[in-house]
Amino acid sequence: MQKFNTNQVGWIGLGQMGEPMVKHLLNQGTKVGVYNRSKAKCEAVVALGATAYDSVLELVQANEIIFLMIADYQAVQQVLDEKVLSALKGKLIVNMSTISPVQNQAVEALLAQYGAEFVEAPVSGSSKVAEAGKLLVLAAGKEEIVEQLKPLFSAFSTTTFYYGEVGKAGGMKLMINSLLGIFIQAYGEALVFADQYGIPKEKVIEMISGSAMNTAIFQAKVPMYLQDDFSPAFMMKHMTKDFNLAKAEMLKQGRSFPLIEQAATSYNQANDAGLSEVDMAAIYQFLAQVK
Ligand code: NAP
Repeated sequence: MQKFNTNQVGWIGLGQMGEPMVKHLLNQGTKVGVYNRSKAKCEAVVALGATAYDSVLELVQANEIIFLMIADYQAVQQVLDEKVLSALKGKLIVNMSTISPVQNQAVEALLAQYGAEFVEAPVSGSSKVAEAGKLLVLAAGKEEIVEQLKPLFSAFSTTTFYYGEVGKAGGMKLMINSLLGIFIQAYGEALVFADQYGIPKEKVIEMISGSAMNTAIFQAKVPMYLQDDFSPAFMMKHMTKDFNLAKAEMLKQGRSFPLIEQAATSYNQANDAGLSEVDMAAIYQFLAQVK
């Protein structure tokens, strides 16, 4: 089994997740080369010692392990263009972006044609959890390669779960995000339900927080509900993307998941109503307007 150089990595995507994850890698002494489509987002990590590259191709030429933490499958396809693919022989792509099992399998098959290895490694946890270095990594691919990556993953996560062949980690990611989206819709509905009694929101939240229905994810969103400030930790557009991917998985299985279907509809409507770039918890604001 090929041994990869884990002292130095390339990283593509410095959005809400990528930036804190790269900061943790730099803090633990890993050399990191970075590329972001809009270059200004490289500045914060370059100030901490990262090397910025002007193109994906240059980054790939300079590194053996390349992480992807970008929006969606379309972004992954655009990054992995013909020139980049031709430079990937003997290298390793680690995809941490949330895309579907089938999409991850397609990337794995494409890379295999160019002699490159692939690991699927989406994460559970918001940008705040990434900042705290407490993500969960859901990994699939060759186990020996995932083992080599664990010291890198541990820079920004508490646990790496290994699931076997590519597709399974993406499936687990869509499962946990569906659960997340359903919970947040349920809390949103509960708050809207309580509104009709004219009881201050603080008191409603205090009661939920003291009840058996309290959760860590509810507490993470409480400041947003109280301050009506939905600055994103996890954008509505990404939650909507994940529900749409989950729905496709559901169709593939020929099963019905009523809560996933309903929540997918709500998040798509909220996204289309102009809430795409705020936090997913703003589903509460959307539900408050729906009659
Ligand atoms: P984000 O802040 O929206 O960042 C998206 C990143 O993708 C940016 O670096 C963006 O570059 C890049 N990108 C988008 N389209 C591209 C393209 N066509 N070519 C090259 N780069 C492109 O998103 P994020 O919150 O960091 O999420 C990244 C991924 O992690 C998503 O798949 C998301 O579903 C997943 N995720 C997010 C969270 C969360 O809580 N935020 C948690 C777990 C997983 P620009 O800066 O140039 O736009």
